[in-house]
Amino acid sequence: MIQGIAASNGIAIAKAYQLVTPDLSYEAKPIQDPNQEVSRLEKALEISKQELEKIKAHTKKEIGDEHAQIFSAHLLVLSDPELINPIKEKINSDNVMAEVALDEIANMFIDMFKNMENEYMRERAADIQDVTKRVKAHLLEVTFPDPALIDEEVIVIANDLTPSDTAQLNREFVKGFVTDVGGRTSHSAIMARSLEIPAIVGTKEITSTVKKNDMMIVDGIEGNVIINPSDEELATYKEKQETYARQKEEWAKMKNEPTKTSDGEQVELAANIGTPEDVSSVLDNGGEGIGLYRTEFLYMGKNQLPTEDEQYDAYKSVLEQMDEKPVVVRTLDIGGDKELSYLDLPKELNPFLGFRAIRFCLENEDIFRTQLRALLRASVHGNLKIMFPMIATLEEFRQAKAILIDEKENLKKEGISVSDQIEVGIMVEIPSTAVIAKQFAKEVDFFSIGTNDLIQYTMAADRMNEHVSYLYQPHHPAILNLVSTVIDAAHNENKWVGMCGEMAGDPIAIPILLGLGLDEFSMSATSILQARTQIHDLSIEKLASYKDKILSMGTTEEVVEFIKEKTE
Ligand code: PEP
Ligand code: MG
Repeated sequence: MIQGIAASNGIAIAKAYQLVTPDLSYEAKPIQDPNQEVSRLEKALEISKQELEKIKAHTKKEIGDEHAQIFSAHLLVLSDPELINPIKEKINSDNVMAEVALDEIANMFIDMFKNMENEYMRERAADIQDVTKRVKAHLLEVTFPDPALIDEEVIVIANDLTPSDTAQLNREFVKGFVTDVGGRTSHSAIMARSLEIPAIVGTKEITSTVKKNDMMIVDGIEGNVIINPSDEELATYKEKQETYARQKEEWAKMKNEPTKTSDGEQVELAANIGTPEDVSSVLDNGGEGIGLYRTEFLYMGKNQLPTEDEQYDAYKSVLEQMDEKPVVVRTLDIGGDKELSYLDLPKELNPFLGFRAIRFCLENEDIFRTQLRALLRASVHGNLKIMFPMIATLEEFRQAKAILIDEKENLKKEGISVSDQIEVGIMVEIPSTAVIAKQFAKEVDFFSIGTNDLIQYTMAADRMNEHVSYLYQPHHPAILNLVSTVIDAAHNENKWVGMCGEMAGDPIAIPILLGLGLDEFSMSATSILQARTQIHDLSIEKLASYKDKILSMGTTEEVVEFIKEKTE
């Protein structure tokens, strides 16, 4: 048995599928027959083509056309005679292995494109790099794992999964995943929860322990992985699986109920989404709004920036589907564990403390303005609220808001209608902002507390680093005092406060947050019904009376014990 961090609820039983990058090194040897090398190359190209066609079709079906475009670009590269012919010529003229010719010619094009002025051409470098790897794997006859091509029930094992790997997982066959690294708030874990795939992260040793085709049980509730279980263990976990399914059926009864406490107070239960396709699950789970739309997924899994019109379509779709229910759209939060390979940003020593989110947008105003225009144009289709991420200073907020107002004016001058009801708020996820929330509350329309980052910055513990994941302590009095400061500051100015970090869906945090006065809880859609069931049995009045006592406690343990005792 291996213990990790429980990242997504549920129990999965299936065999292991190792998602590892293959070794693509080789020894250059003299060749006998250039024609044979050319036919090896052609065969590798053909297999790569077939694979890419499948991945493209799958991606289009599962996550939408725009994400599938990257594979169309890859297919174009594969059949581009300007790339392929020189490789064949090199095999013949230099008498070299197909691998050698492929590497040399591809690298020449990659270097050439990388240094071009034109952004579109620079993006082609990334395409050629990706495609070359696949073709080389087939030349070397090593497996090139593709999560999108999995066609039997498996549990994916990987050192790490990027958010775009996670987006590619086929829910029909991928029953769970387990990684060596990562924490509960790394974005692959967050996505696992919205995909309802049981997941365990930060096990440190899963890839070195599990062998191909080992049977595995993933208990995403407790964070345990059992490798090659006994019959007895299998029976126990199948029963646990059924109990969990029954519990979900109970929660489902709350779908159309209002979110009210036992003393009749109403709060809002909203959902976090990454794409317009996620909205159906929000509605199925009785979500009353979108508390966080992470727009960066529009920018990921492709090779170029989304256009204003593409963005407009996505925002309009979310707003229309939500039909006048509130939708908080967060402007681009790139950086940290969310990379955009095509922007070619320099690697940073501390990406979570680096050039991300609003910092990036204020430096790249053209990218920011395109997004704001798309949002403003979409605002007439529903109840839009705009939120800026990673605000550390008042100046950053003022600057971002000024750009928003400027674009609003521009659109009006162009005769394009824009809603005049758009609330503009910020994420509170940096301690400096939480500490002076009082000053911010005078200028913003709302706050949404991003505890995933607020906790990592307050405790100085990287949210991706499994060695310090014990410091991810949402119930720590330091965090609760900051949260309380923010809520009080907002209420003093008659503004509302939400929370969109993972803490908002945590059953131990929910009663505490109700007592502190939180107005809106935004979580994975799949946590909403459980939260509503829990809230129905809680009294705000009682919980509020514990506030001072909880805020003066010294440790997480004291807080957790106290609240468990009071709510049992
Ligand atoms: C947060 O930091 O709590 C948050 C919701 O934003 P993200 O997880 O996307 O950084
Ligand atoms: Mg954040």
